[in-house]
Amino acid sequence: MVDVLVIGGGNAALCAALMAREAGASVMLLEASPREWRGGNSQHTRNLRCMHDAPQDVLIDAYPEEEFWQDLLKVTGGQTDEHLARLVIRASSTCRPWMQKHGVRFQGSLSGTLHLARTNAFFMGGGKALVNAYYRSAEALGVDIRYDTPVDSLELDGDRFVAARSGSKRFEARACVLAAGGFESNLAWMREAWGQNERGEWPADNFLIRGTRFNQGTLLKFMIDAGADAIGDPSQSHCVAIDARAPLYDGGICTRIDCVSLGVVVNRDAERFYDEGEDFWPKRYAIWGRLVAQQPGQIGYCIIDAKAVGRFMPPVFPGTSAATLPELARKMGLPEAAFVKTVEDFNRACRVGTFDHTVLDDCHTEGLTPAKTHWARPIDTAPFTAYALKPGITFTYLGLKVNDRAAVHFGGKPSANLFVAGEMMAGNVLGKGYTAGVGMSIGTAFGRIAGTQAAVAAKQGIEHATA
Ligand SMILES: Cc1cc2nc3c(=O)[nH]c(=O)nc-3n(C[C@H](O)[C@H](O)[C@H](O)COP(=O)(O)OP(=O)(O)OC[C@H]3O[C@@H](n4cnc5c(N)ncnc54)[C@H](O)[C@@H]3O)c2cc1C
Repeated sequence: MVDVLVIGGGNAALCAALMAREAGASVMLLEASPREWRGGNSQHTRNLRCMHDAPQDVLIDAYPEEEFWQDLLKVTGGQTDEHLARLVIRASSTCRPWMQKHGVRFQGSLSGTLHLARTNAFFMGGGKALVNAYYRSAEALGVDIRYDTPVDSLELDGDRFVAARSGSKRFEARACVLAAGGFESNLAWMREAWGQNERGEWPADNFLIRGTRFNQGTLLKFMIDAGADAIGDPSQSHCVAIDARAPLYDGGICTRIDCVSLGVVVNRDAERFYDEGEDFWPKRYAIWGRLVAQQPGQIGYCIIDAKAVGRFMPPVFPGTSAATLPELARKMGLPEAAFVKTVEDFNRACRVGTFDHTVLDDCHTEGLTPAKTHWARPIDTAPFTAYALKPGITFTYLGLKVNDRAAVHFGGKPSANLFVAGEMMAGNVLGKGYTAGVGMSIGTAFGRIAGTQAAVAAKQGIEHATA
């Protein structure tokens, strides 16, 4: 029998497996995906958020604990556990040397992400290189890795883990870490969580999933049905407006459309529906998925003119361009007259001051609903370009309740040998909202705690059995 079984194959699982192995436990890791798709959503990431009191290798200035905490408090609207959150924040200041030991490399921010140079450490080669490095290290340390092994149920003895089952295969272990992600890839569950809207539509039918197809939430559901304490709202997820042409799964970061604050966004009736210039784009990009999800057909269209080109990170596919607004409307299948009127009304309402995309400038609209409060400039310089937008789900927030040892709870009581890390418990720290890079901070901190605790629990199990 193996000491520690880790279920999942992303960042949290790998951190747990490496820590348990370093603590002397024998470790097996079960990954649902084939080897070439390993690494879950973690393979799509770019950075983690790190506290630091002074400049550190790739991080500039300082990002003290209190500022990180205040940022988290603000984005979650208080839906966070301060004790667990501070644990994550402190761990984020010390984890990088350990990550580097296992082959992860960092790089300074590049243009387009310079606003994160103080708070976020970027992975050289992105999340794909990070998970590859961890897998290499895990293999070298003797972690037994099984691909194509989706776990469908667990055997529990009360609140104790006994074994995991994948089809006809059974895996016994002295302790277990669950790190199998959220349930965003499970379209039926997403449909149920989002329900039907007042127009009789099922919004989730038009969602795209930005990451892996393997996060089906099978174990999350199993654990909740088995009486584990849950935390978070199933309808809450990190949801971004992405290129409507993106694939259903695994489109990743390059499907983001980052020019919303430079133009206008209309729905399929060619009506604007929200202030595109409310705040800096990194602070607002994560609300636009939900805004588009509320529109008819769950679709939006971001419109820019030639003045915006070169001022944002271009998406991977070029937009649709036209020499005139009516031609653009026809190309995008938007009602022509309504579209031209919306843009002309907007253009007339613009009060252009000193345009500056790096500050909350004074270019705004007057007498228009909804207003555009910054960076409002008439859309009047050909060629005009449109990008169709759909809601892109990053991950869901429903998870299992934990304590600072990452133990799964049943009726308020922590399990002695069942632990959870990553997206499966991130809701303890992040009840809603998001701040860039905190997903990997939570997964790294709790993956490492869960692995250490599982190794301790396995050892105690052996001592208990031989006493
Ligand atoms: C496009 C994109 C970009 C992102 N960028 C960032 C970023 O830059 N910084 C950041 O902090 N966060 C980012 N995130 C969020 C980040 O990916 C997550 O917070 C983090 O990866 C969660 O790690 P995890 O290990 O919990 O889950 P995952 O990495 O998703 O891993 C879950 C694993 O469990 C496996 N699995 C699922 N079900 C089973 C089962 N039943 N049996 C066995 N295995 C199973 C999956 O195959 C997968 O390997 C991004 C997400 C996406 C989609």
